[in-house]
Amino acid sequence: MISIYQKNITEELCREYCEGFIDDRGNKVSGMLEWIKNRIEKNLETEFDDKRNTKYIKEISAFKNLLTDNKIQEILTGKPDELLELWNKEFLKFKDSKIISRKIVDKKVTYPRVNLISLIFNYTSFRKINDKKKFGGFLLAKRLGVECCPYCNRNYTTTHATYRDKKVFPEYDHFYHKSSYPLFAVSFYNLIPCCNVCNTHFKGSKDAIIENLFHPYTELQPNSFNFKFIPDNVESLYGAKDNFNLDFKISDPVNKTNLENSLAFFGIKDIYELCHSDLIKEIVNKKLAYSQKYLEMIKNTYGISFEESYRILFEVYYEDDKLHVRPFSKLKKDIFDDKDIS
Ligand SMILES: [Zn+2]
Repeated sequence: MISIYQKNITEELCREYCEGFIDDRGNKVSGMLEWIKNRIEKNLETEFDDKRNTKYIKEISAFKNLLTDNKIQEILTGKPDELLELWNKEFLKFKDSKIISRKIVDKKVTYPRVNLISLIFNYTSFRKINDKKKFGGFLLAKRLGVECCPYCNRNYTTTHATYRDKKVFPEYDHFYHKSSYPLFAVSFYNLIPCCNVCNTHFKGSKDAIIENLFHPYTELQPNSFNFKFIPDNVESLYGAKDNFNLDFKISDPVNKTNLENSLAFFGIKDIYELCHSDLIKEIVNKKLAYSQKYLEMIKNTYGISFEESYRILFEVYYEDDKLHVRPFSKLKKDIFDDKDIS
């Protein structure tokens, strides 16, 4: 469990996501505000007069009137708590509102009855945006640079385009699930790039509020929580035996409950102990072999920083703001820093 919130960087990216930005070549990349406005125009204005929608017209009109530029901006960029307030106060009443939408399937025109909110804040279409001049699922992932799942810090979530221009980017967990909160299907702080195991096998459509989970965009101080390697005996400390436990030490009273719940919810202890005991033993062995003194020696011999020498030996970043770049960074750092292992 790691935080992917980096105050100025995250907030600036969130602003660009909404409003757009000028890229390195001087081209304008439009933001999600424009995309949503286009969807409203296309879906709620041109088809608005369709007779099929007569019985829904009042609701559609009220929904559309609510979606001013400022309101769309709030939906796209609101922090998790602000989103909930917005939902409960202003949009909950539209949760099950419908609209007859015109669709062309196999060259035939059809008129399915669809959810009004999902038609505008449409996650599937957001993922399909394939225009370099528009923000979308791919560009968001690329600019976020979260290359490893923030929930488990175990699986890569890399983003790249192949030579055939196939775009590869991670799944997004909707922290507030889109079936219960369709309005936030493309909201910046509700889109958590993460691995398939955490998203599909653990989170699914479960309610983050009921489960009281830790939000990865929460600002965390370093060492708010740490992995704790607990050997049963000396042999397991030195890697001769497998008898050890992996536990957690949580020192952040404000986020304690959320962190504890999330660690349990995503089965972190079980997965690490059951699937990665070999790796844990190796990290402990490395820590014992490559003491701080040894790292100092490398640092001085090669004229590199402590962080660089750590990276050479442990193959991950030591810096707290780069724990999301490579798998197991948090586990490795916590074992390395643990003064009880020596
Ligand atoms: Zn994961």
